Amino acid sequence: MTPGRGKLYIVGIGPGHPDQMTVAAQKAIASSRYIVGNATYLDQIKSIIADQTIITSSMGKEIARAREALELASGNDNVSIISGGDAGIYGMAGIALEIADKTDADVDIEVVPGVTAASAAASILGSPITGDFAVISLSDLLTPWEDIERRLSSAAASDFVITLYNPKSRGRNTNFGRSIEIIKRHRKGSVPVGIVKDAFRGGESAVLTTLGDLLDFDDFVDMHTIIIIGNSESKLSGSMIITPRGYHRKYEY
Ligand code: SAH
Repeated sequence: MTPGRGKLYIVGIGPGHPDQMTVAAQKAIASSRYIVGNATYLDQIKSIIADQTIITSSMGKEIARAREALELASGNDNVSIISGGDAGIYGMAGIALEIADKTDADVDIEVVPGVTAASAAASILGSPITGDFAVISLSDLLTPWEDIERRLSSAAASDFVITLYNPKSRGRNTNFGRSIEIIKRHRKGSVPVGIVKDAFRGGESAVLTTLGDLLDFDDFVDMHTIIIIGNSESKLSGSMIITPRGYHRKYEY
């Protein structure tokens, strides 16, 4: 990095509460003159914002947001573009780096990782993603629905624990039900499922159910919700889901 040159931080700010933000994310934000992000995420970090200039942009305006952040960072000031959870998981890192690449932007860029919704929700549910798990978004805004169906089917058939991001949003209410039907073709109805809404935010709530009963909670599931579907070895212990790592195959305990 050249002294006096600006830098673009693409920062994952975690699931909600500032305690779940990394120190590196806090430092990146503190060192920035400009903070670019949508209103929900800016609200999440308001307690650590001092006199930075805030540039709010709306959901769905990611390309404009990335361009603006790159432009600002081509001067002498640091800029943080913020994403919820981890910026590299359905976040701003991909599009910001794609635009930097396409435009040959002469900007130093650092991606700062964050606690993603899957690990935040898993911690609330116990230890459901201890071993191999698949992460699938049900949003077909940017991914063809056929690809999503194929991935759901393969992950379910391969006995991956499955975490579902973006289960619903305005105008996309049927994807969730269709997805669960696909998973059920390959997996017993008795496997435990955790639904977590607003992890580490006000109004946090969690529901434990089974794959067979999951659609009874269709109305509870919304765009602030993540779902973790256990595999054939996942089990309930009190109010926790445990997916054994495999120690029982090797040790007595
Ligand atoms: N970059 C984010 C994901 C963005 S996609 C991350 O790494 O977590 C948005 C989806 O993530 C939501 O529809 C929801 O499924 C999930 N999500 C994000 N934050 C969440 C939270 N605090 N609680 C529950 N689900 C969350």
